[in-house]
Amino acid sequence: MRHIRLLLPLALAAGTLSGCGAAIEGRAADDGRPVVLTTFTVLADIAENVAGEHLRVESITKVGAEIHGYEPTPGDIAKASEADLILDNGLNLEAWFGQFVESVDVPHVVVSDGVEPIDIAADAYAGTPNPHAWMSPVNVQIYVDNMVEAFSELDPEHASDFEAAGTAYQAELQEVQDELVDGLSALPENERALATCEGAFSYLARDAGLTERYIWPVNAEQQATPQQIAGMIEFVEAGDIPAVFCESTVSDKPMRQVVEATGAAFGGTLYVDSLSEADGPVPTYLDLIRYDTRIILDALGGGDA
Ligand SMILES: [Zn+2]
Repeated sequence: MRHIRLLLPLALAAGTLSGCGAAIEGRAADDGRPVVLTTFTVLADIAENVAGEHLRVESITKVGAEIHGYEPTPGDIAKASEADLILDNGLNLEAWFGQFVESVDVPHVVVSDGVEPIDIAADAYAGTPNPHAWMSPVNVQIYVDNMVEAFSELDPEHASDFEAAGTAYQAELQEVQDELVDGLSALPENERALATCEGAFSYLARDAGLTERYIWPVNAEQQATPQQIAGMIEFVEAGDIPAVFCESTVSDKPMRQVVEATGAAFGGTLYVDSLSEADGPVPTYLDLIRYDTRIILDALGGGDA
């Protein structure tokens, strides 16, 4: 109950919220299961792992979408009003979300509840929490706890299944975390640095013992200023950092400039804000975090420093 927020009294008859499968727009595949709507693909995949076959999980934004500055469509609102539960990341990720959920009478759970937030240090976002908590497998274990609790309230009959699925998934998350920490421990101190385009790795860096540096704090404003690029060049040179990275949803041009100026390797493209299509490299969250872990370890470990 603690995590469930009823934003407006649930005065509507239950039948208008769920269960009436007849010809509702966007519910072509309605199969009678409760519908859990998430804000983006990463959350949807994590939720599916906890929900198993008992709930139908969907994402408002599509694969590859820019999630920070997304603008919901009337279709999204219609879809949300038919959901039984809405999950959002919180920590200011979904700037568009507050107004969005106010327009529908559906219970809403913030899956990052309980994560210790890290504030963004720079620019217009200074002092607001960094939203990218899912980039640490340690935090996602908290997301899973919140989902197990929310799903068990939504569908108490299957509470023990949610619990078991959540525990199994948490064990896989811990494996990735251990791989990252073990791999990094083999590197010299100065090479334990993560230089990226977006400041999306603060939680991963904190939980894995990496020093983080980014060109811009949040992808919503992805125009690198000359000062931002100069700052990155200085960081790479000062630490003799072997490799730098950029994320899949933005242009890596500014980071290529850093590569040219410093001779550091371009370590690869990291996935953060979206999964890939099913036939891409990171169709699930576990794929995403394993993929990033390997790119980071390979590039830092095999660098030319
Ligand atoms: Zn982001």
